[in-house]
Amino acid sequence: MENYISDRLKNVPKSFIREILKVAADEKIISFAGGLPNPKFFPVKEIQNACNKVLEEDGANALQYSTTEGYLPLREYIARRYKEKEGIDVSPEEIIITSGSQQGLDLIGKTFINDGENVLMEKPGYLGAIQAFSVYGPNFCDVTLEDDGVAIEELEEVMKNNKIKLFYTVPNFQNPSGITYSSEKREATAAAIKKQDILMVEDNPYGDLRFIGETVPSMKKYYDNTIILGSFSKIIAPSFRLGWIYAKKELIDKLVVAKQASDLHTNYFSQRIIYQYLLDNDMDKHIEKIIKAYGHQREAMIGSIEKYFPEEVKFTRPEGGMFLWVTLPENIKALDLFYKAIEENVAFVPGFPFYAKEKIENTFRLNYSNVDAQTIDIGIKRLADTIKKMM
Ligand code: PMP
Repeated sequence: MENYISDRLKNVPKSFIREILKVAADEKIISFAGGLPNPKFFPVKEIQNACNKVLEEDGANALQYSTTEGYLPLREYIARRYKEKEGIDVSPEEIIITSGSQQGLDLIGKTFINDGENVLMEKPGYLGAIQAFSVYGPNFCDVTLEDDGVAIEELEEVMKNNKIKLFYTVPNFQNPSGITYSSEKREATAAAIKKQDILMVEDNPYGDLRFIGETVPSMKKYYDNTIILGSFSKIIAPSFRLGWIYAKKELIDKLVVAKQASDLHTNYFSQRIIYQYLLDNDMDKHIEKIIKAYGHQREAMIGSIEKYFPEEVKFTRPEGGMFLWVTLPENIKALDLFYKAIEENVAFVPGFPFYAKEKIENTFRLNYSNVDAQTIDIGIKRLADTIKKMM
């Protein structure tokens, strides 16, 4: 069968996380592996009301084909929110609704990446972006992520030695590391990439979920040639598969062509329901509840790590989002720890799939959004005991 498979797909890695989630699905296992929003905060009743209202008031239209760009009132809402929250002037014409921001990544690959072109990734970087871009055959370059953003000297070195087409970044509460770029690092990053005419992609699905510290302006403020990806997955619910791309109109026009070829348009019924939900409810109040719970769970996880983990183990302290990142002593492989931890009924994601180039083996990701504080303590204690045995 192998001879049927396109060259394009042959070298694309399978999502290791999806594989791990199958193992971690066992009910006995305390899982810090997934990247799931907490279902306690899915607004089921409100969505039910929105759904009924759409069907009652405009049923037949809501079930019809629609435009590739997406439902205009929803795009207007998103444009207004950029102005209100970030002070960025956005026209609805500069927004295209996508089937999750994951489709945004695919469309960006399809529209902008030629075979063999250099795409710069964070190290570690979002696995789903590595996978989505891989289909288009780029040559990945990478730059180390420090506690406050990418290492600037290293970035300058990479830029000196390579012609970069696109830089992909998750500057707020990054998946997998939880790291947020400081405003100084954003400015320095922009200054470094300005030397070449690079397209920056800011993927921001977690930006609204800040529990500590001050909001930092979008990369767009420092570097105009920036495309922003957004998503309703982490602030309302992921099953709708609703995200968006904000880009200059000339780029949106090309992304529209790419999207037509992919799926004609994003699920129109989903768009109508979410828009109705947004009309009838205060999303910011809803987000406050999520922030409160995740902030509490993040505190619990950091508290337990400080209590149980050996000192040699380092970890990040995210100001928002859903993940933190652990670095083991160099002689311990996270994959070995993973198999031992599964025997103790606790799961996480080893770090190696998050590296676009050279794989580092002693790191791993912990998710705290989907486990309550008490269970976090039990799971982190088990993990700590397993690490200690391996040391
Ligand atoms: N980008 C990042 C950084 C993510 O963490 C995720 C979700 N895991 C996505 C994009 C995709 O999200 P969605 O397609 O649900 O909007």
